[in-house]
Amino acid sequence: RLSPQLSGSGHVTLETADRRGDLIQGPKGRLDPGACEEADEISYFQFPGELLMRMLKMLILPLVVSSLMSGLASLDAKTSSRLGILTVAYYLWTTFVAVIVGIIMVSIIHPGGAAQKETTEQSGKPIMSSADALLDLIRNMFPANLVEATFKQYRTKTTPVVKSPKMASEEAPPRQILIYGVQEENGSHVQNFALDLTPPPEVVYKSEPDTIDGMNVLGIVIFSATMGIMLGRMGDNGTPLVSFCQCLNESVMKIVAVAVWYFPFGIVFLIAGKILEMDDPTAVRKKLGFYAVTVVCGLVVHGLFILPLLYFFITKKNPIVFIRGVLQALLIALATSSSSATLPITFKCLLENNHIDRRIARFVLPVGATINMDGTALYEAVAAIFIAQVNNYELDFGQIITISITATAASIGAAGIPQAGLVTMVIVLTSVGLPTDDITLIIAVDWALDRFRTMINVLGDALAAGIMAHICRKDFAQDTGVEKLPPRET
Ligand code: ASP
Repeated sequence: RLSPQLSGSGHVTLETADRRGDLIQGPKGRLDPGACEEADEISYFQFPGELLMRMLKMLILPLVVSSLMSGLASLDAKTSSRLGILTVAYYLWTTFVAVIVGIIMVSIIHPGGAAQKETTEQSGKPIMSSADALLDLIRNMFPANLVEATFKQYRTKTTPVVKSPKMASEEAPPRQILIYGVQEENGSHVQNFALDLTPPPEVVYKSEPDTIDGMNVLGIVIFSATMGIMLGRMGDNGTPLVSFCQCLNESVMKIVAVAVWYFPFGIVFLIAGKILEMDDPTAVRKKLGFYAVTVVCGLVVHGLFILPLLYFFITKKNPIVFIRGVLQALLIALATSSSSATLPITFKCLLENNHIDRRIARFVLPVGATINMDGTALYEAVAAIFIAQVNNYELDFGQIITISITATAASIGAAGIPQAGLVTMVIVLTSVGLPTDDITLIIAVDWALDRFRTMINVLGDALAAGIMAHICRKDFAQDTGVEKLPPRET
């Protein structure tokens, strides 16, 4: 996108092409009325898709708040015993590992094409330092105003301050003229030119905390999670608010179920509009194929190597035998794309085939179906970084950390229903300022990837139950309650 222009006087200027949509330029870089009309038509065509995006964004706030608060509040004093703490710690840890696997995969395969590092000079905009990015991350974790956090997030503003050029007396290097030789390019000669190396005016960048438009999802997630944990500890006193959150969550899920009917229609327009906007749709298709391969590779590495190895090291039992026991549940997950819908079958497989204590399964599986989605977390991280790559947007270290935290949080916030991960994907993109509309890029393959990630979500829950049954076997064996190992069907 950079067009170096060598002017007659010998100065080198770099002109950055604006993002399409911000400024419509004709071939010569001037405003082109024809291009404007074409952009109008594209935006009318994109309108049904825009509606879909609006629906998704509308649902984020109630979905995140209600699912986190009600999910974590269910860990009351009784259940947040050894099993509760171990299970949640295990879930968080494996989800985070899944995100790291996704980040490594997407960095190695680089499905979004070669990223061009945008420097300050090239983009004309100063780039924030990693320290500022890290401070913003922490600021966003603790929003000063919760209402404001629903539509604004903290982002350090960096402004250039121009200092006058150094005088010759101040050790400035002498003015130099470099003469380049004649070059052959496309059959024609490129003229010689001189490069003036007079030191340019010194520019320093000043950073100050500021806010930008966009929901501070990280702050809302942290607040809701803390509230959920505290509500769980309040016992009966917290019941009214917990019931409210459960009710809110259920009703939001019902809205999602209705909105899903509109999805195919909106998706067609979103994708078609996106392709019309693209300079080279074939290149996008190719990238999308690589993106799908990246997600599947990550899921295979996590689901068939990391999780089974973890199971083997902790329990010293054969993971293949365990996985064979839950094969039926994995097939249902593949068919339904819903870990919640698969839950009854996962129960059945664990109790009947793998002989897991039903008291453990009763706690580990539903909590897992709510908060443990390794496949979804991995996919969210890959998708966010893929979108950054497609946009030639170089993510700094602070942003990668933000993605790993928000992808973990977004997977916790996602419901176990088809394509719920697509809704919470907006969280990850918003947190690092990536264009949320670019979700449309990945929608075309999402229905297929959803099935595979749901399988890994279900497998993660099942293996967790196996591991917890092994770790807590003594606690449960000592228990003289009616539900002893092995369970008896009544
Ligand atoms: N469909 C997934 C599940 O039910 C959630 C998602 O990633 O969309 O586990």
